[in-house]
Amino acid sequence: MTDTLIVGGGTAGCVLAARLSENPDHTVRLLEAGPRWLAPDGFPAELLDATRLPVGADALWLWRYPVTLADDGVAITGNIVRGKVIGGSGAVNGSYFARATAADFAAWSRELGSSKTWSFDSVLPAYCRSERDVDFGDRPWHGRSGPIPVRRSMNPVPLSKQFATACAAVGFPAIPDLNEVSGSVDGVGPVPCNTEGGNRVSTASGYLLPVLDRPNLTVQADTSVVRIRFRGPRAVGVDVLHDDGTETLWADHIVLSAGAIESATLLLRSGVGNAEHLRALGIPVVHSAPVGAWFTDHPEIGLDYQLGAPERATVPMEYVLGLDDIEIRPYTVAFTPGVQHLGVALMRPQSAGVLRLRAADPAIPPMIEHRYLSAEHDRTRLRAAVETASEVLQRMPAHVRTEPMPGPPRAADAWLHANLATSQHLSGTCRMGPADDDRAVVDELCRVHGLTGLSVVDLSVVPVPLSRGPQATTVMIAENVADHLRR
Ligand SMILES: Cc1cc2nc3c(=O)[nH]c(=O)nc-3n(C[C@H](O)[C@H](O)[C@H](O)COP(=O)(O)OP(=O)(O)OC[C@H]3O[C@@H](n4cnc5c(N)ncnc54)[C@H](O)[C@@H]3O)c2cc1C
Repeated sequence: MTDTLIVGGGTAGCVLAARLSENPDHTVRLLEAGPRWLAPDGFPAELLDATRLPVGADALWLWRYPVTLADDGVAITGNIVRGKVIGGSGAVNGSYFARATAADFAAWSRELGSSKTWSFDSVLPAYCRSERDVDFGDRPWHGRSGPIPVRRSMNPVPLSKQFATACAAVGFPAIPDLNEVSGSVDGVGPVPCNTEGGNRVSTASGYLLPVLDRPNLTVQADTSVVRIRFRGPRAVGVDVLHDDGTETLWADHIVLSAGAIESATLLLRSGVGNAEHLRALGIPVVHSAPVGAWFTDHPEIGLDYQLGAPERATVPMEYVLGLDDIEIRPYTVAFTPGVQHLGVALMRPQSAGVLRLRAADPAIPPMIEHRYLSAEHDRTRLRAAVETASEVLQRMPAHVRTEPMPGPPRAADAWLHANLATSQHLSGTCRMGPADDDRAVVDELCRVHGLTGLSVVDLSVVPVPLSRGPQATTVMIAENVADHLRR
């Protein structure tokens, strides 16, 4: 029997499998729904090339979900994706690899009533262990020998340079290192990216593939977990589906690293969730828990513009302007041919989303409602952010294509709805908190409250909005939990 069975070979799952299997006496089995390759350069070009964002609309290696982003009387719907491949969403994403801020971890620790495991000082060693920062690795708060290379564009394209110059002209300071520990986090700076020679370096390439020959590590790709098996309150195995049919695999400890959407839906389908909702779908209740009752994500408003002939960058975003809870993102890739896009994202929204099952059948995607812009605070902050972004655009030689945001707040809010999108950073569906917190699904070490032998280790557990993109923090979560599991 396997000691630890990990569901999901994505950003967190690959880190966990590699770190736990460092102990030769610990057997680890990693199950991934999508395909895998045996070496980093075996990945298809579309997955390797960091500028392919999004990867092709009909690509095989994606999970796709219909979502409702907001509803002010008129529903704003859309579609989101997640990586369905070894490396998970890290194999298809924008390669932006920035740490969350010290203030985020202070908020996270407040939610727990403890600063033991998730204060900034406690997590900094895990961030450092994960990275090989080629620009700032010699500084004390950075890693120089971790599995993930981190670098900033040395030769940015004209669009990025013009953006940085425009930010300086408006009066925003330059931040050479967005992962710096001390000092202000407000300003414009080059984006730390997890790439090498223009290729994405996911945790599959950085952590997992180099250790595939360990005898105590089994990696099974093209294998979907459909349900967790329980004996009383103890998780004892999983039912899986693969090309040869169905099978039950048993383990001492099961870890869900299937991402914030699939870890939650797997728990719900297995009977862990809101008892009333589960019974209505005919799912026997194993344990009542607030799975999917809260999640957060970064709403993003898009401003389209044209600016000379586009030049090919090596990453989708070379510079970013961070202003407390706002990020302004000058994408170097054109999502529509010939049109450039400035993303204006709210990083600490108060509006929270909800995820529920529509049916017990795993083939039917869950209901996902982001409920963006439902808090007045978020509308006010985004209106101010759009004004700032417009001011920066005015200082660039850009021809703005998006209709300007109207002045009166009510009309401006309708405009925000019309231009609304998502950063695809959904997190918190199985949030962390103490046992007496009725919003909490897992404890401080990611173990599911009220059950044994079952943990969730991925972006599902984060209990607060993060001020930066979540990829680097997902890696850190897995590093930090692996360290505690090994003690
Ligand atoms: C298009 C896109 C662009 C993004 N860009 C950035 C960016 O530039 N910077 C940033 O910081 N963040 C970015 N993100 C977000 C970031 O990539 C994710 O938040 C992060 O990778 C989540 O890691 P995870 O381990 O929680 O889940 P994932 O990396 O999604 O891993 C989950 C894995 O579990 C597998 N799985 C799911 N269900 C099952 C099952 N039932 N059985 C077996 N396996 C299963 C999946 O196939 C997947 O491999 C982006 C996300 C997307 C989708």
